[in-house]
Parts: sequence; structure tokens; C-alpha cells
Amino acid sequence: MVFPEYDAQCGWYEMLEAVSEFAPLQGNTQFDTVVIGGGFVGTAAARRVAENQPDNSVLLIDALKIGQGASGRNSGFVIDQPHKRELEQYDNRLKQKILNLNYTAIDYLAQQIERYEIDCQWSHAGKYQAAVGARGEKFLNHYESLLKQSGSEYRRLNKQEMQSVFGTDYYSAAIHTTGGMLMQPAALMRGMADTMPDNVRVVENTPILEVLRTASGFTLTTHNARIQCNRLILGTNIFTSELGFMRNRILPVMTFASMTAPLTDAQLARFGGQLDWGLTPADHAGTTVRMTQDRRLIIRNGYRYAHDFNTPQALLPKVRKNHRKGFEDRYPQLKEVPFEYTWGGASGLSGNFETYFGELEQGIFVSCCDQSVGAARGTISGMMLADMACGKRTQRLSDMLEVSGKPSWLPPKALLRVGVPLRMGIARLASRSEL
Ligand SMILES: Cc1cc2nc3c(=O)[nH]c(=O)nc-3n(C[C@H](O)[C@H](O)[C@H](O)COP(=O)(O)OP(=O)(O)OC[C@H]3O[C@@H](n4cnc5c(N)ncnc54)[C@H](O)[C@@H]3O)c2cc1C
Repeated sequence: MVFPEYDAQCGWYEMLEAVSEFAPLQGNTQFDTVVIGGGFVGTAAARRVAENQPDNSVLLIDALKIGQGASGRNSGFVIDQPHKRELEQYDNRLKQKILNLNYTAIDYLAQQIERYEIDCQWSHAGKYQAAVGARGEKFLNHYESLLKQSGSEYRRLNKQEMQSVFGTDYYSAAIHTTGGMLMQPAALMRGMADTMPDNVRVVENTPILEVLRTASGFTLTTHNARIQCNRLILGTNIFTSELGFMRNRILPVMTFASMTAPLTDAQLARFGGQLDWGLTPADHAGTTVRMTQDRRLIIRNGYRYAHDFNTPQALLPKVRKNHRKGFEDRYPQLKEVPFEYTWGGASGLSGNFETYFGELEQGIFVSCCDQSVGAARGTISGMMLADMACGKRTQRLSDMLEVSGKPSWLPPKALLRVGVPLRMGIARLASRSEL
């Protein structure tokens, strides 16, 4: 069994000024509801169960400190638009449902951030999607046609606008959509953990080792405690299979990011662009770039089949070198600006692009296989799992079930270990002009 590990390399988490402590769990304990995993899914689920049923005792438990997992190490886009695959495959009615669900998640996060004054660089910045050359432009044109079909608002940028926002003339075309948000993910996750309702107990650095069904519910085992509960919510994403559920259906894929030191005033002037924006590549295998509110540039690219779930440290120097090239190609005027952090993080894909949401077995509510876009989708999934667990039937819950599916079976691991890297290598080669 593999547990999540923290590598002390994730810039978002390492930059946090004060991180609260939650007392560990010892001995035999009992809760009405246990939520395993403190990412987008788990934090939203725990909060919502507690809001729905203030007398319910809830345990939110994570193997790491909350904020150290994938939900605290992503690029910080809370995306409103359906995933490209969904834009391509679904009819307009379903796309509208996904959009509405994502907006519900964004509103929910915004409400918590405002109510509890969570300091997480939350910003209504929208999202840029950009192409470097002809290959990227082809993808961008296709994306534009999908946005048009679904009636979404967007705007094309001209060369001058791209230069004045991004601080580089590296890009040949870009589109801006307005609905999404940006944030500092580890700060958001810490804020969510720190402001849980009174009936939620938060426990960290405590992996669940085993889940057993009993006559009245479940017994969960940790190194120092045994927990009884009536119902279980799994927000464990790629690790769900390690607990014995959804085996051979989740493909863990790792991607990597590097973050610079904050730009000095002189470097900012040479940069020449704006603060607080984020750009995803038109060609999926390209590079995500973010400029934070606190003057740090972030480069994200590279994929790896994460059969081992966690980040192998030996890979990071090579990743940093690739990121350095991406950075200097875009910002030759900032060659002396160092990277302070380089990290990897894994999320889950499926063979048929489906995200799982629902009551997997009686009393076990699960959302997993996030397709690498879990900020909005994970949040709404957590909220709706909580409603489902509390017996609250709503139109939103029906919509959530309608837009989800069951990830298909994957080939045996031995085949994946050959086939997935090969496919990723080919994609990287084909997209090298967009990196
Ligand atoms: C570099 C990178 C960039 C990304 N950028 C974006 C982005 O900009 N926007 C976006 O929407 N998505 C992005 N993603 C994807 C996004 O981070 C994920 O979709 C999202 O975090 C999934 O949330 P989750 O709650 O389902 O799972 P996770 O965040 O993976 O949470 C699962 C939690 O379960 C805990 N856990 C697992 N097993 C156990 C156990 N046995 N016992 C106790 N606890 C356990 C883990 O420690 C973890 O904290 C990115 C991912 C990466 C890696």
C-alpha cells in the first residue's frame, strides 16, 4: 500500500507563514462521518456535512498536512469552463450543467474566503489560453469554435495586448475567458482547514491504513487509533485504489512546476507585463505560465506516469532544467531570476475520460479521477457527496450524477509502464514547439 508523501519542495506550501497544528488521534474513537483526504473534495465535503447536519460529528483526516497534497500544489486556476474533452463530447445542455456546477463551486469558495478572510490571493482574473506557433494556433482555433458552440464569452488578444499582459512576445495568439478565478492553492486549503465548523475535527499526518466494513458502519485503522463511523466519504483521488476501491481504473499522472523568487522592482520593470494572471497552453502538452500577485513567475510542464504516486526527487534537477529553458525562452530579460522551488504533483486520468462521483458501495461516497482539473469540479463534488450522504436530494446533485461516469478498466500495470511513457514521449516531441 502506498501513502502520500510530502517532499518539502512545493513553493505554495513552503511560502506559508504560519501553519496551524491539529492534535493527533489516539486510541478508540467514534464519529458519525469520516472524510478521508483534505483536498478540494474532502474539505468541501467535511464542511458541507457539518453545515447540513450541525449535530453530526465529522472527522476530516489526511495522511499529510492539509495543503501538501495535490490540492495545494496545483497551478491555482479555479476553472469555470468544462474540460476540453467535455466541450468536445457533450451536448450543450450537459455543458451548461457543468458550467453551472463549476460556478456553484466558485461561489461557495468565494463565500468561505470572504466570510473567514482567507488570505489566498483569490482573484477574478479569468484565464488566458495561448499558442506559441502554428500547432498551438490550430488547437486555439478549435477551442474557440467549441467556446462559440457552447455560447461562452471570450476575447481574442492582439499582439500588443499579449505583450502588455504577459511581458513577452513569445506568443502568437491568445484567448481570454472571464469566469475563472486564480488563487494560492496551499493557502486556500489551509484556510479551509482552519475555518471548519465546530462539529468537524481535523486530524493531519495520519494515514488511514485500512477500511473495514462492520455490522453498523466502518472501522478505520491508523498507526495509533481505531475509528468507528457510520458513513465514509473518500476524497483520496489517486490513492483511492490504495484503500481498495476503484482498482485499475485511475491512471496517476504527474506534472511539474517551478516558481521564481519574487521579482525586484528593477526586474518587474524589465518584465514589463502585468501581475496576477494565468495562461494555459492551447496545446495540452505545452506550458502553463502564471504571474502571481506577489511577483513570482511559475512555469508548469512535463508529464510522467506516476506509478509510484509520489515525486521521485532524483527527477527534479532535470525538470528544473527544462523549466529553465521555458522560462528563459519567454523572459530572456530575466535570465538572472532564480527558481526558488520545483515540485511535482499527481492527479488522476481515466481511460474513458470519466470522473467518478457517487455512492460506490452502501455508505461509501467517493469522488475520484479528477482529470487534472479538480479545483472547481472537486469542490462541487465534495459539496454534492455531502448532500448525498445526508440524504439531501437536489437538482444540483442530479446534475452532478448526470455529468459523471465510471472510469473504464485500464490495462495491466506492466503494460501501462511501457505504453504511457511512450505515448507521453510522442506527445512531448509533437508539441515541442509549444513548450
Ligand atoms: C502541478 C499541478 C497543477 C495543477 N493545476 C491545476 C489547476 O490549475 N486547476 C485545477 O483545477 N486543477 C489543477 N490540478 C489538478 C488538481 O490539483 C487536482 O485535480 C485536485 O487537487 C484533486 O483534488 P482532490 O481533493 O480530488 O484530491 P487531492 O488533492 O489529491 O487530495 C487527496 C488527499 O487525500 C489524502 N490521502 C490519500 N490517501 C490517504 C490515506 N490513506 N489516509 C489519509 N489521507 C489520504 C492525500 O494526502 C491528499 O491530501 C493540478 C495538479 C498538479 C499536480
